[in-house]
Amino acid sequence: MSYDVDLFVIGGGSGGVRAARTAAATGARVAIAENSRMGGTCVIRGCVPKKLMVFASEFSGNADLAREYGWSADAGTFDWMTFRTKLHGELDRLEGVYRNLLGNSSVTIHDARAIVTGPNSVKLDNGTEITAGHILVATGGHPVRPEMPNAELGMVSDDIFDMETLPKSVLIIGGGYIACEFACILNGLGVEVTQYYRGAQVLRGFDDEARGLVAEMMREHGVDLHLGTNIVEMKPASLHSGTDADMGTPVGEESASIDDLAAHKGKPVWVKATNGNEHVFDRVIFATGRAPNSHGLGLEELGVSINRRGAIEVDEFSQTAVPSIYAIGDVTDRIQLTPVAIREGMAFTETVFKNNPTKPDHELVASAVFTQPELGSVGMSEEQAREQEEIDVYCTSFRPMRSAFAGKPDRVLMKLVVSKATQKILGCQIVADGAGELIQMVGIAVKAGLTKADFDRTVAVHPTMSEELVTMQNPVRSA
Ligand code: NDP
Repeated sequence: MSYDVDLFVIGGGSGGVRAARTAAATGARVAIAENSRMGGTCVIRGCVPKKLMVFASEFSGNADLAREYGWSADAGTFDWMTFRTKLHGELDRLEGVYRNLLGNSSVTIHDARAIVTGPNSVKLDNGTEITAGHILVATGGHPVRPEMPNAELGMVSDDIFDMETLPKSVLIIGGGYIACEFACILNGLGVEVTQYYRGAQVLRGFDDEARGLVAEMMREHGVDLHLGTNIVEMKPASLHSGTDADMGTPVGEESASIDDLAAHKGKPVWVKATNGNEHVFDRVIFATGRAPNSHGLGLEELGVSINRRGAIEVDEFSQTAVPSIYAIGDVTDRIQLTPVAIREGMAFTETVFKNNPTKPDHELVASAVFTQPELGSVGMSEEQAREQEEIDVYCTSFRPMRSAFAGKPDRVLMKLVVSKATQKILGCQIVADGAGELIQMVGIAVKAGLTKADFDRTVAVHPTMSEELVTMQNPVRSA
C-alpha cells in the first residue's frame, strides 16, 4: 500500500526534529507537524532561554567578585525588557535555524496540530488528512500545577520568559531541577526569592552530600529556602481579607471567582504555607513537575497504552502497542532530557529506516542542574550505589581559589563513588561553577567503565578545581 509519506512526526521539539531529519536523510518522505513553535520545549521555553537567563543572572555575583580583585566594578541595574527583547530575538533566530534544517532535509512542515486517526493516518486541525507508513509521536510534556484552589494564579516555567516586568519578590514551589534553577536565576537578577519544598532536601534523587551543598550555597547566595514546607492556600492579595498577613491574622473564607482569577493573574498573591506563615508575593511560580502531552491525540482509541502518569508506553525500540506508531522523548517519560530525546530519535531512524534495530542507551546519562553553583552528576549517587554493592567513597570539599581569594564562602564538592570489587567508577558528583562542563568530560570516563586506577594515573591539570578528581588518594569511607 502506498502512503502520502513514509513518516509523519507529531511534535517539532528536539527529538521529533532529529528523527525527521535523520529519516529524511535515508531518502524517506517525511512530514512533521508542530502546533506551537518549531524547536519545542528545549529551544523555545526550556534549556536554551533558561541557560541565557543563567548567564544574565551571573553578572551580579561577578561584579561582587571583581571588586574583591581590585576592580571598581558595579553590575548596575538589570533591565529585564532589554534582556527579554534580545532573548526573544535569539529564540526567533533559533526557530528559523530549525525550520531551515528541516527544509534543507526536504521535510514537509505543517504548522498545525495533528491527531492520529488510524495506525497509518493523521488529521491536521486544518482538516487535511495524511497517510503515513509510520507515525512518530514526539509531543513532549508540559508543566503541571498542583491541584488546589486558585492554582491558576501561579505561573509555570513557560510563563517566565514572557513576563512583562521582573517581580520584586517570588515564591517558588518545588525542589526539582526547574525550581532550584529558577530560584538561583531570579535571585541573581535581584528578585527576592523564597522557595518552599515539601521534602527534607531539594533535588531528590541526587547524591545527598551534593544536594546538601547546593542547598547551602543557594541559601548563602540569598535564596530563602524552606524545607518541609508547602503551599496550602493562595488567593489574589487584593481579595485577601486578613489585614496583616505577616502577623498571621486569621484568613477570610472567601475564594476568588474564575473571573476574579483572570483579572488577578500576574498580580500579587497571598499565600499560606503548611507552617502557618502567610505572605504576599509579587508572583508565585509552580515548578512542581511536568506531565507528558499524550492525551487527546487519538492514541488510546487505537490501542496505544498510556500509563497512570500519562506516559506513552513503548518497548526498548520506542515502539508502541500499535506497530506502526512509535514514541520518543518526554511523552514517554523515560529520562526527560533533550539529548536523550535526540538519541531516541536517532535510534528510531536506525531501527525503522536503516534496517538496523537500535535501542536507545539510557545507561550512565550525565546531567547538570544549572543552579549557582551547578551540580553535575553521572552514574550513581553514594546512596544508590551502596544499595547495590560495597563501595569506596572518595570525596573532597573545599573553597576554590577564585572565590577564596575574594573572601567568599563558596565551596565546591568533588566525589567519586567506586565499586570495591571492580574498582570501576560507579558515579561522579560535582558541585562547582562549571560543573555542567566538567561532568560532560567525566561522563566519558565513567561510560567507558574506567577504574579509580585510571583516574589515578592521569596527571593533574594544575591549578584547577577538577584536578582533585585525579588526586584523591584515600577513600573518606567505605560502605
Ligand atoms: P522534577 O520532577 O524534577 O521536580 C518537581 C518538584 O516538584 C519536586 O521537588 C516535587 O517534590 C515537587 N512537587 C511535585 N508535586 C508537588 C505538589 N503537589 N506540591 C508541592 N511540590 C510538588 O520536575 P521539574 O519540573 O523540575 O523538571 C522536570 C524534568 O525536566 C526534570 O526531571 C528533568 O529531567 C528535566 N529538566 C532538566 C534540566 C536540566 O537538565 N538542567 C532543567 C530542567 C528540567 P518531590 O521531590 O517531593 O516529588
